[in-house]
Amino acid sequence: MTFHCRNYDLNLDQCRKLHDDCIPGRRGCALEGKVKLSEELEKRVAALEEKKQRQRAGKSKKARRS
Ligand code: SF4
Repeated sequence: MTFHCRNYDLNLDQCRKLHDDCIPGRRGCALEGKVKLSEELEKRVAALEEKKQRQRAGKSKKARRS
């Protein structure tokens, strides 16, 4: 099955809504919680969440140092 999301910017190859990579089902995505994700997409969403968590942890460490 294929679909076209109206938020997807073909020219920039990213989500116009999130101004970031299109990973269907990610937090803030129009499809979040509405569809059953494939195993591959679930892994990409989990990897993205991990990355964001690490970035947040890094930022709070920097804030504590200053
Ligand atoms: S992340 Fe979601 S809302 Fe954004 S372009 Fe992709 S499918 Fe659409």
